[in-house]
Amino acid sequence: MAGIQVSDLRKYYGKGDHAVHAIDGIDLDIENGEFISIVGRSGSGKTTTLDCLGLLLRPTTGTIVIDGVDTGGLSDGKRAEFRSRKIGFIFQGFNLLPSLNALDNVLLPLRYSGGDKKAARRRAEELFEVIELADRMKHRPTQLSGGEQQRVAIARALINEPALVLGDEPTGEVDTETSQKLVGLMRQVNRDRGVTFIIVTHDLDLAAATDRMVRLKDGQVIGDESQVAVDLAESARR
Ligand code: ADP
Ligand code: MG
Repeated sequence: MAGIQVSDLRKYYGKGDHAVHAIDGIDLDIENGEFISIVGRSGSGKTTTLDCLGLLLRPTTGTIVIDGVDTGGLSDGKRAEFRSRKIGFIFQGFNLLPSLNALDNVLLPLRYSGGDKKAARRRAEELFEVIELADRMKHRPTQLSGGEQQRVAIARALINEPALVLGDEPTGEVDTETSQKLVGLMRQVNRDRGVTFIIVTHDLDLAAATDRMVRLKDGQVIGDESQVAVDLAESARR
């Protein structure tokens, strides 16, 4: 089965009475091509959930099946391989390497995969067209604005042609207008390439621009609803 099935996911930090139940029994069924937000207060378990979905963190118990693969059964090596083949990440605060120019930052996820270098370069150039920074490929991160850096981070998340992109507060450090543009860009990639997006945020405007909002509290799902996504660009013009 395609998509993602999460069942009875739990992540506890520490043991016994003092254990922190960061995730406390989450069930989710996500179809390919969905554009989802996960919202909740600080400490509600958003990042832990996303890190488990991205195979960066092993849950204490429960299962995560991605595109038919029960990821809990994979060795660490196989998890890393699965991750680099299927999943792209956009973190808060850009996380670009300051010593590399924008192009090399985008190519970075490919450094260990022996693939065709010319094809990768072409793909990167295409992505710079998509993020409208084709004229900035050789710039260092410090020579780019926050919004531009985050667009580069989005391109970096897409270089592997992932089926799934996970964003942890991807618009956390930019102004509202830039945030709207970034959401528009992610939406465009979602529509044009069928990439599934799961975006953690506490920005309710951003969440309103997604098709489905999953609400967490104390490591549990307290709301999971489909919605008509607000077109942020449209509402900004009004
Ligand atoms: P959010 O992203 O919604 O702010 P997190 O997933 O980061 O929430 O954290 C959920 C809970 O788990 C919080 O109570 C947090 O303090 C705790 N937590 C997160 N990471 C760790 C860790 N490495 N060790 C212990 N507790 C942690
Ligand atoms: Mg967090």
